[in-house]
Amino acid sequence: MRENIENEIARLPKGSELFAVVKADGYGHGAIATAQTALAAGATGFCVATLDEAIELREAGITEPILVLSVVFPSYLSLVVDYDLSITVATYEWLEEAQEVLKDLSETTAPIKIHIKADTGMGRLGFLTPQEVKAAAAFIEASPNMIWEGLFTHFATADEKDESYWHKQAARFKAVTDVLDHLPRYVHSSNSATALWHDQEMPGNMIRYGVAMYGLNPSGHELVEPYALNPAMELVSELIQVKQLTAGEGVGYGKTYDTPEAEWIGTVPIGYADGWLRKMQGFSLLVEGEFCEIIGRVCMDQLMIRLPRAYPVGTKVTLIGKNHGQEIPMQAVADHLGTIHYEVCCMLSERVPRIYQ
Ligand code: PLP
Repeated sequence: MRENIENEIARLPKGSELFAVVKADGYGHGAIATAQTALAAGATGFCVATLDEAIELREAGITEPILVLSVVFPSYLSLVVDYDLSITVATYEWLEEAQEVLKDLSETTAPIKIHIKADTGMGRLGFLTPQEVKAAAAFIEASPNMIWEGLFTHFATADEKDESYWHKQAARFKAVTDVLDHLPRYVHSSNSATALWHDQEMPGNMIRYGVAMYGLNPSGHELVEPYALNPAMELVSELIQVKQLTAGEGVGYGKTYDTPEAEWIGTVPIGYADGWLRKMQGFSLLVEGEFCEIIGRVCMDQLMIRLPRAYPVGTKVTLIGKNHGQEIPMQAVADHLGTIHYEVCCMLSERVPRIYQ
């Protein structure tokens, strides 16, 4: 992770900053450890999705700016102040409601730091027109309880070969910045994909660097990354029982697999409760560099693989990562599931211990 971040920072224009996106428990990698690594590598701030995630970082001792990317209910604004967080505003109504709440807080309360979000084509959060953004900025600047700290947008197709929609969104964001008399401290539009593939034209002075920091290509297979990304996560387990079944024996719930001949079967203590889904049946794991198919249904807590021979209990089993010169990239798991790697790492449950090296 450190290398991924350092490589990205080296490409940024002078004066630009990298905020590490550590929402969803650092995309399943562990928010606090991830944030500390990012900090050591040069990140100067953090993005999370929820207030709880922001508080978790503050309570772990992170003192850098933390931006909550989703909407915080105005009724929680005293927490935003107490934990010195920056928050996102996406509607004028929210500002009016927040103003009422802030009036009731103590006079000594520090103003809340706000990033205005412009919806330039994601259709998710944000003001739709430059005039609406201008009105929101004017409201914030007129309020003694608010500071206008940031302006941002989010691209929907930065990870695609066809750049036309990206350019449409960039033009809309420019129309927003053009209409404003001045800009706030942070202007940001880049997720990983924009930072990687639109680095010459991306608007702003800060990037929100997420999936690429974890060493994953945001586009999946579509685009080649401009520098090598190192996958941060390996998922490993071990054999807890090894047995030879005779021909014609069933394996797993529903007996969806019958041994065609005598076979060595290894039991691995990971299942769908760990985020390793039932659909992973048929996928192959690595044992001493050999691909071993998951046979029978994946259970809640265990799965079974077909081994080429007997291995000792305790032998390492790699589900994601390198093993004896072979590799299972997270993308391969995503391909098997018909999804994206973002979902694979976010799905790994709390029960899976995270070990940092
Ligand atoms: N910015 C916003 C608003 C996001 O929602 C996300 C992630 O979904 C990111 C930045 C980071 O995106 P990525 O992980 O693709 O870098």
